[in-house]
Amino acid sequence: MTDWDAIVIGAGPAGAIAARRLAAAGARTLLLEKQSLPRYKACGGGVPARAEALLGIPIAPVVEDTVDAIEVSRFGATWFRKRSPRPLASMVMRDRFDAYLADAATAAGAELRDDCPAQSVAAQHDRVEVETPNGRERGQWLLVADGATGPTARSCGFPISGARSAAYELEVAAPQAALERWRNAANVDVGYRPWGYGWVFPKERTLSIGLVTAPARGRAIRRQAQRYLDRLGLAEARIERVAGHPIRYRRSRSEPVARGAALLLGDAAGLADEFTAEGIAYAVHSANLATDAILNSDRPAAAYSAAVNSEIQPELDAARTISRLYYFCVAAWPWLARHASNLVNYLWRAFFRVMRGESTYAAELRRLPGGGAAQRLLAAS
Ligand SMILES: Cc1cc2nc3c(=O)[nH]c(=O)nc-3n(C[C@H](O)[C@H](O)[C@H](O)COP(=O)(O)OP(=O)(O)OC[C@H]3O[C@@H](n4cnc5c(N)ncnc54)[C@H](O)[C@@H]3O)c2cc1C
Repeated sequence: MTDWDAIVIGAGPAGAIAARRLAAAGARTLLLEKQSLPRYKACGGGVPARAEALLGIPIAPVVEDTVDAIEVSRFGATWFRKRSPRPLASMVMRDRFDAYLADAATAAGAELRDDCPAQSVAAQHDRVEVETPNGRERGQWLLVADGATGPTARSCGFPISGARSAAYELEVAAPQAALERWRNAANVDVGYRPWGYGWVFPKERTLSIGLVTAPARGRAIRRQAQRYLDRLGLAEARIERVAGHPIRYRRSRSEPVARGAALLLGDAAGLADEFTAEGIAYAVHSANLATDAILNSDRPAAAYSAAVNSEIQPELDAARTISRLYYFCVAAWPWLARHASNLVNYLWRAFFRVMRGESTYAAELRRLPGGGAAQRLLAAS
């Protein structure tokens, strides 16, 4: 006897979308969330247009701004601004966005229990048991969507890869002039070694400002963020919230994402890309693939693993190659990188096509002279 067809752990975008799709298909679905919703999540809150297309619900009620331009700077000194003919990304605050997606899951029939962590999990071939503060829940399928630091994948016996970055987020109550300066535009600040970037993402009454870099630089990230704020002219602005958080990366098809009754989604599976460090699109994509596998396949774990490997992993691999090429050039030859990336508009058109969901990193990399060779070289290293 099982109480639920599916138990979903974690009500971020991966978990909420998975719960919504399963419940809408008639599955008895329990969505467990450790924190009380709405809850803060350290995140730039940039939802690329390609993620919106995957979500399956309109998100206009929680969108605070729409970005169609990117201003590139190096250590705060502006290089150039590029504009896309169509919107690149919607800007959200994750507390409102995630609560909105969780509401959509409950509207579809899922039962949401927030402030209710999964404390321990026993996953077998055809059933799972989850211990919560309110008692034990039994289900047929377990969807693990508890994020980059969630404990469930490890406790189900999945090996956890060490590939990660350090990220730091500040929510800044910026003066009106700064809010106006960044309306409809994002800043990408480059030059950090060995790789990484800073960002300004505009929101209705704040700016989300952050940095992502190699984990070895994690100790310096707070200092770098302060310098970045100074260069943006925001040294005196009130900071409403500060949080650091790792981002994990799946680098190989051999890293398992499903076994028996348990499927790993989103950040819990390391599905974030190493070029932009984004993960919302992959979280939602993996939720769609996992629920399709559960609803339509006789062997969901195998079907889901194959789908992640053929639809998501090629993007993560290509993004990693692009990341290495781009950040190496920017750090080693800033003058060349500045002029080449400003003058070769093709690169921007390609990046914008990927953000809008009209192309993929893998396809754009294949088109780049030497792109395929660079990827093979990196895979072999
Ligand atoms: C600083 C920073 C900035 C970022 N900016 C962007 C960006 O602008 N755009 C973008 O696309 N990506 C961005 N990312 C990545 C993005 O935040 C993640 O990829 C995305 O949130 C993954 O969604 P998820 O649903 O897999 O996990 P999460 O959003 O992390 O959700 C996991 C949920 O599980 C819950 N949970 C944890 N443990 C338990 C438990 N035991 N029981 C029940 N619930 C549990 C957590 O409370 C959380 O609500 C950023 C990441 C960082 C760190």
